[in-house]
Amino acid sequence: MLLSDRTNAQWNEPPFVVRVTTDSSRPFTLRAREALLVKNPPPEHPLGFKVLFSLNDALKTGLNEPRVVPLPSTLSYVQDGDIVIVRPASGDLRVLYRKASLHNSLMVTPACNNLCVMCSQPPRKADDETFRLAWDSIPLMDIDTPGLIPLAIT
Ligand code: SF4
Repeated sequence: MLLSDRTNAQWNEPPFVVRVTTDSSRPFTLRAREALLVKNPPPEHPLGFKVLFSLNDALKTGLNEPRVVPLPSTLSYVQDGDIVIVRPASGDLRVLYRKASLHNSLMVTPACNNLCVMCSQPPRKADDETFRLAWDSIPLMDIDTPGLIPLAIT
């Protein structure tokens, strides 16, 4: 199962995390941090969602908001409650958390300096963006998530 791939939608905005939903009637207060996953145009224009994840390349909303992000077929398995990092500048998408998985892990920093001999990488410079994305994702996770494995390496 691939966890990351690239979409052809690119624009100028810092990376962000979104929770996937297929419910176009979500409360407005939740939509700003959610991606509506659609195959066909929804019955009403889904205002307020951060982005639309489209499973149909031809889908366009005709408006600037929310942006349509064609989902690569490799990531079409995402379901309600999953969380995805969107990097608009490069078009990179990464599935950060899967609601149905019992083995989610959360990358919080690449800057661990314990220098264990078996470590697969030397410490990198502190990276605030990695921590910010991890931090932003936690409130979006399902309340019944049994556990998380914090990671300090990539
Ligand atoms: S990331 Fe883990 S294995 Fe690597 S140096 Fe830090 S504690 Fe050791």
